[in-house]
Amino acid sequence: MVYREPTHGWWCNARTYPTRCSYCGAEVFYFSCDCGSKVFFDSLGWPWPVHDCINNILKQVEIKIAEDYARRVAERQERLRRGWKIPIRACYPQEDEVVEEIGIVREILPVINVFKKFNLLPDSPFAIKLLGELARGNWMQITIHVDNLREDVLLSYTLLIKRSIWEAAGARLGDLVRFVAIGQYIPGRQAFWRCKNIRLVA
Ligand SMILES: [Zn+2]
Ligand SMILES: [Zn+2]
Repeated sequence: MVYREPTHGWWCNARTYPTRCSYCGAEVFYFSCDCGSKVFFDSLGWPWPVHDCINNILKQVEIKIAEDYARRVAERQERLRRGWKIPIRACYPQEDEVVEEIGIVREILPVINVFKKFNLLPDSPFAIKLLGELARGNWMQITIHVDNLREDVLLSYTLLIKRSIWEAAGARLGDLVRFVAIGQYIPGRQAFWRCKNIRLVA
């Protein structure tokens, strides 16, 4: 029986982010896709050298990346080096829409008054009922930029997040994170993203 490693590319939602190795600080590229691949590369392009400063098992894995995808990633990097800025597009949810992505934390608002945010009278029984879970506990707001190579944009997700969830993740501004957010809706207000889960990519 011959087992063939899959080739990763557009079809498996491949994502490549320049970042820093959290162990040695080297500039690396984080690659992940829906097949479950999660790997740091030292540089882009064949033979895709895996960053192995902690000598982990990833070293043994040979990852095959589709050529046209790889070319686009490298070409994008070159444009960024020359000072090009990726356009940013705000992403608003539909109700109950779920998104799971990786991206970079670009803004943190440590204190959010949800009553004010949704233009409701503070602590009124009506507002508390309308806000449900949002009326309880401490909420923050973070903005995460997700790279969309196919459309050549950064998708900007602004999320409400419980302080306890944020603090457990231990992320800071500029960190690469994996997050799950769900679209929620308060009658008469614009739908918003609520962060269900977030963790550092490592
Ligand atoms: Zn894949
Ligand atoms: Zn390293």
